[in-house]
Amino acid sequence: MKIYKSLDTLIVGAGFAGMYSLHKQLSEGFKAEIFEQGDDVGGTWYWNRYPGARCDIESMDYSFSFSEELQQEWNWKEKYGTQPELFSYAKHVCEKFNLRKNINFNTKITKAKFIKNTQSWLVTCDDNSIVKCRYLILATGNLSTPNIPKINGVDTFKGNIFHTGAWPKEMPDFKNRTVGIIGTGSSGVQSIPIIAETAKELLVFQRTPNFSLPARHSKLPIDKRENYKKNYLKYRQLAKNSSFGIAKYQPPTQSAFDVSENERNSIYQKAWEEGGQAMLFSFTDLLTDKKANDTAAEFVRNKIREIVNDKSIAEKLCPFDHPIGTKRLCLDSNYFQTYNKNNVSLIDISKKPIDEINKHGLVTNGTEYTFDDLVFATGFDAMTGAVNAINIINEDEVSLKSKWAEGPKTYLGIMVSEFPNFFMITGPQSPGVKSQMILSIEQHVDFIHNLIMHKKDNNYSAVNAKSKNQDEWVKHNNDVAHSTLYPLAHSWYNGDNIVGKKRNFMPYVGGVANYKNICDEIIESDYKGFEFS
Ligand code: NAP
Repeated sequence: MKIYKSLDTLIVGAGFAGMYSLHKQLSEGFKAEIFEQGDDVGGTWYWNRYPGARCDIESMDYSFSFSEELQQEWNWKEKYGTQPELFSYAKHVCEKFNLRKNINFNTKITKAKFIKNTQSWLVTCDDNSIVKCRYLILATGNLSTPNIPKINGVDTFKGNIFHTGAWPKEMPDFKNRTVGIIGTGSSGVQSIPIIAETAKELLVFQRTPNFSLPARHSKLPIDKRENYKKNYLKYRQLAKNSSFGIAKYQPPTQSAFDVSENERNSIYQKAWEEGGQAMLFSFTDLLTDKKANDTAAEFVRNKIREIVNDKSIAEKLCPFDHPIGTKRLCLDSNYFQTYNKNNVSLIDISKKPIDEINKHGLVTNGTEYTFDDLVFATGFDAMTGAVNAINIINEDEVSLKSKWAEGPKTYLGIMVSEFPNFFMITGPQSPGVKSQMILSIEQHVDFIHNLIMHKKDNNYSAVNAKSKNQDEWVKHNNDVAHSTLYPLAHSWYNGDNIVGKKRNFMPYVGGVANYKNICDEIIESDYKGFEFS
């Protein structure tokens, strides 16, 4: 076995998490490199190039805070960053901190094995080369393993097949073409209105309708941007002390039933007009009390009924299967309005699934639908997909995948017991996906970096999570989730979207501020729950 490289730190993935982690490691003098399967940086914003792709958190929030110079010099143009703008930002970060020379592109990591004698990892790349490293950090993202449902006959389709999460670099031209799209989650809700603008005909195959609120997207006015920049310190602090890591969404103070029905609806109306996710932050009990939630859900269903001209189509677009907000809430620009167009059809497949895909299209409920191109907006094997795609083996020859067969178990979403010197950025059972992702990334990267420094400064050779503390954390994660309405939805949060995946509620929904306080207390108590050897 030939080791072609020895590193202190090997980071997998060159998205925001990988880049910030690399920057921290290099700043401390570590020999660190990223291995990235794409040919450029950006992660999510490298792969998700589908029509209409943009972030649903405002740009001024969804950005790095660790460098004052960076946050002052970068000028966001749009209220919600588009994929091209976010991709440019990622490239700018890469150049500014001189990271590119330490990134190995077009290289996939397939295996990692912990070696007891040397207390290090041997990591195998897809060309079979082997890299030795002391620390292995996964920055592989939570929504990075596209899910293409196993539908009979998919290989026989003669037209083009696209997945929103692995979109080609060259934008396909849908002009004069009939397009079929499967999926009405955030990716579908964003791409459907844009594809409908050019396609001759668009057929939307909907299994479950989703709640979506208007984004009210606009250009970002320069004075607003500059004012925000002047007060960045305050806004970043507000975000850190909030539940979801977004400055303007501070915890509400009253229950939905503290006010009259009229007042409640006018609060919802104001939030609807403001756009974004404001409505979910109107009352304290929207995510804990089904009756309170029903008031918001019905408000949005009535909006759908107002917007969509055809009553039966409107009713098909109204979600009844889950409380609003318990699946990731979509933000849209004219999503429901799109169903008023003559070239758009909604095909409800909730009762009869897709039987098969054939040469020309697909068959459901005995009817064949033909189209030229097929778009899968069918989501991801979320949170565990990218971790399990690497064969990670500990010193006892036990794989992480087998340890997680019944669902992921982590300590703080950062480490896994019995897998020393192995870290995940925003892993399962941490708030990542239920927060402003970049804020959570920064917090995890800092935590991991400090943990590594603590280990190094004290001359320890390995750090591990204690299984007792891990069990307690997993239980806490589940207890918090089950005190809310989240588990009532069939969503990727609990693995329901992947056939055969064990149901487990994965994100930590106790709030960003609470989570950070817990982490800070752990640091102050000399890293309680971690053992050093
Ligand atoms: P998703 O939310 O998981 O939605 C997948 C869609 O595909 C659902 O409508 C699902 O229906 C449907 N589907 C899956 N398998 C199917 C099958 N076999 N037959 C028919 N329909 C099927 O995935 P996503 O839209 O890619 O979004 C994933 C997450 O990425 C979001 O929740 C969000 O966190 C993130 N995201 C964010 C943005 C943004 O920032 N604006 C944009 C895109 C994505 P069911 O509901 O019935 O399962």
